[in-house]
Amino acid sequence: MTVERLQKVMAEAGVASRRKSETLITTGRVKVNGEVVKTLGTKVDETDEIEVNGVPLQREKLVYLLFYKPRGVISSVSDEKKRKTVMSYFPDVRQRIYPVGRLDYDTSGILLMTNDGQLANRLTHPKFKFEKTYVAKVEGIPTNKQLEDLRHGVKIDKKLTAPAKTKILSSDLQKKTAIVEITIHEGRNHQVKKMFEKIGHPVNKLKREKYGFLTLEGLQSGEWRELRPNEINRLK
Ligand code: URA
Repeated sequence: MTVERLQKVMAEAGVASRRKSETLITTGRVKVNGEVVKTLGTKVDETDEIEVNGVPLQREKLVYLLFYKPRGVISSVSDEKKRKTVMSYFPDVRQRIYPVGRLDYDTSGILLMTNDGQLANRLTHPKFKFEKTYVAKVEGIPTNKQLEDLRHGVKIDKKLTAPAKTKILSSDLQKKTAIVEITIHEGRNHQVKKMFEKIGHPVNKLKREKYGFLTLEGLQSGEWRELRPNEINRLK
């Protein structure tokens, strides 16, 4: 039996951040076993029934999965166009997991799947500055000056991107393409593609190789593994 503070249980179930959960409690929006509870120190265990705004709280074991997303798969829980989603790779996972952030349909690589709403919010929040490393195959061969522009920041959607790290891993003079590694900590829509587009070298192929300290080592495309306890602790 695990006894935990009510606001922690609420945050872990993905109701809201811990701070917001505290406000929900103090403003009388939370019931434990049918009684309104306004005291922040209240402890609950698995047998307690919690209701937030009249809705029963779903409590499940928290799971953290590291997935190697293939190209041609959509990173959302469902798709109105009926395309294959990442969920089809987890038929036996009983928890209601979802991807932490997004990878484009045609982007492959590392994607974290979890049902821990609090962690997902933190990892995707810009202030957390979580680094993501991509390898892009681009048209043409970027010059040092262009890479320098990416490092300093370029304007996309009217706003400068935060400083990035970039380096050319290889280039093919005949095919006029280059493989470039880029590390960013923001997560704006289609950010990497837009950044390369901006310097005149559109992306032909994109893969996310690293998510913070996590890599795809040992995984083939379409495979996943559970995070190890020490990895989960490092993320929290
Ligand atoms: N940047 C992109 O352009 N696409 C992705 O899928 C991820 C980052």
